[in-house]
Amino acid sequence: MEVRRTVPVALDVDSNDAALLEDTVDTFLWCAQYVVDHAFQGESVTTSKTTLDDETYDDVREKTDGFNGGLVQAARNKAAEACKSVVARWKNGKKASKPRMTSPHVVYDHRTATFHDEYVSLATTDGRIEADYVLPDKDSDTPHAEYLFADEYETTGAELHRKHGEWQLHIHCKMEVESDTPEQATTENGTVLGVDLGVNNLAITSTGTFWTGDEFDHWRREYENRRGDLQECGTRWAHENMQSVGRKEEARFKMTLHRISNELVAEARDHECSVIAFEDLTDIRDRTGASWGHKWAFNRLYEYVEYKAEEHGIDVEQVDPENTSRRCSHCGFTHPDNRESESFECQKCGYENHADYNAAKNIGLRYLRRNQTGGDEGEPLGVRLNSGTLNVNGEYESPAEVSARTGVHAEESHPFTGG
Ligand SMILES: [Zn+2]
Repeated sequence: MEVRRTVPVALDVDSNDAALLEDTVDTFLWCAQYVVDHAFQGESVTTSKTTLDDETYDDVREKTDGFNGGLVQAARNKAAEACKSVVARWKNGKKASKPRMTSPHVVYDHRTATFHDEYVSLATTDGRIEADYVLPDKDSDTPHAEYLFADEYETTGAELHRKHGEWQLHIHCKMEVESDTPEQATTENGTVLGVDLGVNNLAITSTGTFWTGDEFDHWRREYENRRGDLQECGTRWAHENMQSVGRKEEARFKMTLHRISNELVAEARDHECSVIAFEDLTDIRDRTGASWGHKWAFNRLYEYVEYKAEEHGIDVEQVDPENTSRRCSHCGFTHPDNRESESFECQKCGYENHADYNAAKNIGLRYLRRNQTGGDEGEPLGVRLNSGTLNVNGEYESPAEVSARTGVHAEESHPFTGG
């Protein structure tokens, strides 16, 4: 089985290189649009990558003064996929028009990019450039470090995006994991995976895995732009098209949420958790400043996780969200000043971590405490961290100590492993 993650990393790019990247994005989109236009020329839309390659590759290279062949092919793949989804909609009796390749990005793979530990080399319209990653330091236990610096994760490719004037690389990583044993499927060890939902990160778990909101935001902006364009038209055709954009938007979001829910359930299974704990979603807009769109997404995500987890005998529960973002998961001290946007720093014990990650651990701990009062299970419970667990008192136990015990899962380089 494979575990896949996408890690967004900002790039340090000087103005010369930035100009080259701009040019590369424009050329990439031009190529993709050229292929789309070609695919729509005949009586039926061509969706075969091989056919499109045969029919457009040489033209595209010539018209772009020899744009990198790997990028030309990536643009053609992008175009073929866009055409395929149009045809799929038509087959389902739905409306769809010729795709417009406007979202500024470039798709890279191992032929067009080389991923080093601290920098990336990217093909552009004029040879390669090198750009440093802007990262927290290596010893940090943020998810960036966990995936990018971990040998067991293999980088498979990336997408270059431009966001608020900054260049960002969304790096795709994968890891082979052993397939599940029968014991895992029937485990009843009471280990909890805590999940925090939010705007910047759609979801983050007590094991330190996070799902960024970037993709969600990206699509939302994309569709808002399209709707804006259509609104300006004001015709009946535009009105109908706007409704079609709305349906497309919903389908795209649902697809993303299905993928995230699958990965969340896989995370719970990888860590042998028998419970996935979310915060109660009722008032989440007040707490997180989330939009209606986000609340809709959180509810869908919860539903998807609930039914997918059930197939694996994993319970999905909601806990009281009060103070989960202000409470220190290490010492329990609760204060509004502990949290400053994405950073958590305990005013009492000095524990520092990503605020959403701290919240995810608290959500797991709250589930444990709530269920410990009855005490009828006998077994000590815990919250799963990346390596080891937190017990109900918030104390860390290493994997060796835990072995047969249950817990919220903790990261390897945890500040309190020394204790
Ligand atoms: Zn503390």
